Amino acid sequence: MKVAVILPAAGLGTRMHRAGSPSTSAVSLAETSGTSRKQFMLLEGAPILVHTVRKFVASPLVQDIVVAVREEDIEWVESMLAKESRGLMGTLRVVAGGDTRQESVENAVAALDPNTDIVAVHDAVRPFVDLETIRRVIEEAEITGAAIVGIVPVDTVKQVSGAQAGGARVRGTISRERLVLAQTPQVFRYDVLRRAHEAARRDGFSGTDESSLVERLDQVEITVVLGSERNIKITRPADMDLARLFFEQEAARR
Ligand code: C5P
Repeated sequence: MKVAVILPAAGLGTRMHRAGSPSTSAVSLAETSGTSRKQFMLLEGAPILVHTVRKFVASPLVQDIVVAVREEDIEWVESMLAKESRGLMGTLRVVAGGDTRQESVENAVAALDPNTDIVAVHDAVRPFVDLETIRRVIEEAEITGAAIVGIVPVDTVKQVSGAQAGGARVRGTISRERLVLAQTPQVFRYDVLRRAHEAARRDGFSGTDESSLVERLDQVEITVVLGSERNIKITRPADMDLARLFFEQEAARR
């Protein structure tokens, strides 16, 4: 099985703006335009994207890695990642992303080797995914055609109407037994993911993950592999504090 990994890393980090000055250990790389692009923030000396790339390079199941970044970042990200590909069986390439996460993934899918069997899509800003989860979700997708990592929510989930940001009115409670919070990796047979992107483009559908595109096809059943609450998506300023703690704990285990 030829397995490729897509790491969308072309986001602008609009939710990462911090009031006041940025924390000293969450500084941006000199080449980037600010601290808001979380995929390039430094975590113990290396950009978050690099930590994420290392996890997949370390997986014996992965052959190719395609990273999607903004067009203007391709060159320096390529040189930054050049030495990271050692140990990878296939290639590590950097391609231009798009204005949305979905477009970034779509561009990366178009750049894949057509002989790819399985594609795992993983947010570049989730550097704490563990090798065991990567293995389990890829192996599950090899059997079923589609598998995602998810965790069970601990909070009670309310359906609301009105603005989420404030003044929302509760309309109901969704039983936790019927809910899973979708993380990444999300892994699909190559042909399934390609068809899902084609259909989404044709219908003008936009989703915030690949699973929602594949669900619309109604062709494969997507299975859920239980993941870990440590597989956080570094999104808001406070996430960097948690990320530093998780990184220290990971380093201590190595
Ligand atoms: O926007 P969100 O927080 O869901 O981003 C998840 C991942 O998608 C991040 O790694 C981000 O860099 C990436 N992304 C992208 N292209 C965009 C927007 C987000 O590759 N246009």
